[in-house]
Amino acid sequence: MAALSPAARYQALRTLPETALDLLVIGGGITGAGIARDAALRDLRVALLEAEDFAAGTSSRSSKLIHGGVRYLQHGDVALVREAAGERQVLRRLAPHLADPLRMVIPTSGRATHLKLRAGLWTFERLTTVPPGEHYAMWNREEALAAEPLLAAQGLYGAAAFIEYLTDDARLVIANVAAAAAAGALVANHAEVEAIREGEATVRDTLSGDTLRCRARVIVNAAGPWVQEIWRRASVRGPRELQLTKGIHLVVDHQRLPLRHAVVMTARDRRSVFAIPRDGMTYLGTTDTFVPAPEREPAIVAADAAYLLEAANRTFATQPLELRDVLGAWAGLRPLLAEPGKAPSEISRKDEIMVDPASGLVSIAGGKLTTYRRMAERVVDLVVERLGRRTSPCRTAEIPLPGGERALPSPATLEARLPGIGRCGAARLLRLHGAVAEAIADRASQGGASGEVIPGLPGVLRAEVEHVLETEMAMTLVDLLERRLRLLTFDRHQGLGGLDAVATLAAHHLGWTAARTAAEIDGYRQLAASLRSFV
Ligand code: FAD
Repeated sequence: MAALSPAARYQALRTLPETALDLLVIGGGITGAGIARDAALRDLRVALLEAEDFAAGTSSRSSKLIHGGVRYLQHGDVALVREAAGERQVLRRLAPHLADPLRMVIPTSGRATHLKLRAGLWTFERLTTVPPGEHYAMWNREEALAAEPLLAAQGLYGAAAFIEYLTDDARLVIANVAAAAAAGALVANHAEVEAIREGEATVRDTLSGDTLRCRARVIVNAAGPWVQEIWRRASVRGPRELQLTKGIHLVVDHQRLPLRHAVVMTARDRRSVFAIPRDGMTYLGTTDTFVPAPEREPAIVAADAAYLLEAANRTFATQPLELRDVLGAWAGLRPLLAEPGKAPSEISRKDEIMVDPASGLVSIAGGKLTTYRRMAERVVDLVVERLGRRTSPCRTAEIPLPGGERALPSPATLEARLPGIGRCGAARLLRLHGAVAEAIADRASQGGASGEVIPGLPGVLRAEVEHVLETEMAMTLVDLLERRLRLLTFDRHQGLGGLDAVATLAAHHLGWTAARTAAEIDGYRQLAASLRSFV
């Protein structure tokens, strides 16, 4: 049985009530997934429970960048710069497909900003270790326009170019959850912690409606935007207020904004926002506005969309982008620790670990995708101390993540094996699955239907969908199409072209009735439509 098969989920939920857990982690975003993997690798008896799906909260809704840390320099936070730069090298080693170097271009409008940027990038490279070929460059106006011809020439002085790493946030979470499960963690999605009392959690399987109880010596609250809600469910008075801010992204066809690099744009309020090319699309992000309470699907406001489009239209010399060019969008909530009086973008992104003295509940909030592994290490160090146990030291920096065990084949090599998916399809398969793409290629090459491309989903093999259904605990169509296959976000038609075919496969693998299958299709269609209409 694969560590993340649907059967493993039922097995985990069945086993939980009778297991004496060292640690229960609430929340299957990147924070909780990282903690569960670290704890399992240190031989703790750990369970990870996620109310909806792994990465369904903020961790599938980020800008998908593993930051080198240049941006933290402007706050003079050298420790954070070093941590971020170090961590991205670790991730590149553990899972190169989830840390893909991407040149980021910052256009400059005058000599003073150009020189200031150069000084910043020079300092960054003195503080950190930059791999060969990844050093910054300063371009004059002509060089900038030659490298990125779409830049608006008017008012352009030059540009700075440096390397950031592109990841896939949801896939990074799935890789960590799979690694945790393979190391012995009990993991389940669609399992909501409803109450906590004296080390005992009441958990509802939201798919079956069943309720169970489980006990753990330490409970970690890694519920992201819902950290305060967990305090309420545990009758704990939290030591800090959380402040949520919303960030949206818009997706347009790459042909509509055919960038060669990621480009930093300056929005009308002087904030930096990005345009990032990926998999035949270009996405724009992000905004930063306060929201009062966590929502599962934060609304995308037309004014926020207009803010990003305006920034793009000022930065690039193209036919102006309009709302009707937007093919998809996503919105996420940053779970930040409140700093009253500060504007959304000024609030620190640093993480903080908090322990409730009465109940012993450990909570973690804030932080970034980029530094998740170090955050997890700090939490598990604390858990081990509270357990009074001696364990092996943290091993998460040495053991590859799933898909990172072997060198990656090139997209050309993969395409040669799977001519039906084309170069773009091969690149997508490698980005999402890393070296596991070869196992999917083996399955596709065995003959039969698995080798076919799903009608309506160019470049997506039936073998990939089958593999994901069998080994990645996708329990609903949204789990499958959004957080495993990333088609809701990065397919031109939000995956709708192949929806019926994928639903038939899912129904077969997961034993859905006709009514359940119809409800899944309907729910997916509604979600996709809501991401194309702005309120
Ligand atoms: P989440 O991912 O929200 O996970 C918490 C989980 O807890 C959720 O899945 C939720 O369903 C679950 N949960 C809630 N209640 C319960 C319950 N009762 N029982 C069980 N489970 C429960 N960082 C970067 O490094 N690079 C970036 O480019 C970047 N861009 C960003 C852009 C935006 C717009 C935003 C919003 C954030 C960005 N970040 C970025 C930050 C990063 O995405 C977050 O720090 C990170 O994803 C937070 O992860 P988390 O696990 O703490 O929270």
